[in-house]
Amino acid sequence: MAIETAVQTFKNLIDGQWVDSISGDTFISTNPAQVTDIVGRFQASGEEDVLQAMEAAARAFQTWRYTAPSKRAEILYQAADLLEKNLELYAEELTREEGKTLASSRMEVKRSAQTLRYYASEGLNVAGSTLPSDDPTTFVYTRKEPLGVVTVITPWNFPISIPVRKIAPALVTGNTVVFKPASDTPLIAFRLVEVLHDAGLPAGVLNFITGSASQTGKPLVTHPAVKAVTFTGSTGAGEKINQSVRLSTRVQLELGGKNPLVVLEDADLDQAVELAIKGGFELTGQACTGTSRVIVMDAVHELFVDKLIAKTASLTIGNGMNKGIEIGPLANKSQLDNVLDYVNIGKSEGAELVYGGEHLSDGEYANGYFVKPAIFTNVTPKMRIAQEEIFGPVISVIRVQSFKEAIEVANDIEFGLSAAICTTDPNRAQYFTQHIEAGVVKINRPTTGVAYNAPFGGMKMSSTATYREAGRSAVDFYLQEKTIYNGT
Ligand code: NAD
Repeated sequence: MAIETAVQTFKNLIDGQWVDSISGDTFISTNPAQVTDIVGRFQASGEEDVLQAMEAAARAFQTWRYTAPSKRAEILYQAADLLEKNLELYAEELTREEGKTLASSRMEVKRSAQTLRYYASEGLNVAGSTLPSDDPTTFVYTRKEPLGVVTVITPWNFPISIPVRKIAPALVTGNTVVFKPASDTPLIAFRLVEVLHDAGLPAGVLNFITGSASQTGKPLVTHPAVKAVTFTGSTGAGEKINQSVRLSTRVQLELGGKNPLVVLEDADLDQAVELAIKGGFELTGQACTGTSRVIVMDAVHELFVDKLIAKTASLTIGNGMNKGIEIGPLANKSQLDNVLDYVNIGKSEGAELVYGGEHLSDGEYANGYFVKPAIFTNVTPKMRIAQEEIFGPVISVIRVQSFKEAIEVANDIEFGLSAAICTTDPNRAQYFTQHIEAGVVKINRPTTGVAYNAPFGGMKMSSTATYREAGRSAVDFYLQEKTIYNGT
């Protein structure tokens, strides 16, 4: 049972005012490393709250859309400075709430500040085009305009950097936003909204509303004022959102992954092990780009697996707040149950669990959602543990006989987010980049880790590919083009 001592209550932000939910209902967020530790109490919002947030955002749009782009950018720059000023505090809050190591949290907050600055500058680069006209008395050109109200819905695994890479391009291009974070990580989302508010965003431009997927998330997607929904989360939820939005609502869905690392026989095996560990177990396997399949050539399979087990056994698991911890807890109880279920599924399918997979529940682990990272061998490509997103520290090692087979196995899946190859042969690396079905491709780098200024997104079921998230083209999702014929 969680013990409530002096738990702070955090409010929604609607029309520039910090407010309680209309029903007065709340929920708590807890620390996954120590579940008796309550991080905060948040508003359990419903349809009426959503309505108010939507109306505020629609009103504010009429002014914000005409606000000077340089002024909009200035606010993002200011927010970036505020984030960095309190980086250590925010990193600690992020770790306390989500569980990732303090080093990972620091990187995430830092990257969020960089992302704010990046989009502040991109906001000044929005450009239409002029077109050759058959009629010399008519000047034909295009201009890009904001869409209106944008709904932002985000997951808990990158609880500040994902919201930033949606909210910043939406705002800098003149849209207004209603933002709902995941209920496991509302505090760091609150902090982001707070710094943007303190940086000078006018009332109603950014509205923050916490609550469940069903009570808060659903009406946020279907409301008639919504001109765009940008969502990151599970493929199942993405499909539901896709089915429920109006025809006139633009949708961006960044979804799940089942990312392969291909290890060729010419690879530096120590490097391959580092990549597998970093991609598969860092962030406790809870990254959409996490390595969950390692496809290894027969010739080096045995040696690779031995090295992988040895290195995994040396990892330090514990509360991410403590020094030297390399793997924190899973983010919540359903994550823990899910990982343990898949460990059982793997065993029942005939894969061999050669390391880990057990729930750590004694001593320092007693009150948290800790598991020992799991390694399966004898995995065949069609097993569920090789096809379904587990979203935890479970690596399935698949043995292959040829490079061609490695690519076939890597592609024989509904996902296509990130993929990596470990090889010293530049020709095969190049061939891999051409034939792999993934939106992000890495050579001798882990499947995880993406640059804030590079396009990001998946193929197949991992993403709706119309607009990439992050990078220069990301702003286009938040803009519509108007063609003007100007007679002289
Ligand atoms: P989730 O889908 O359960 O929830 C994500 C968010 O959507 C939450 O805020 C939730 O409240 C809301 N939501 C869920 N169903 C909804 C609905 N029908 N209508 C409106 N809102 C709804 O995902 P999660 O457990 O928070 O995150 C893990 C998932 O996110 C994994 O599948 C992972 O691969 C994916 N993810 C993808 C990326 C990417 O960029 N591709 C990045 C990070 C995480």
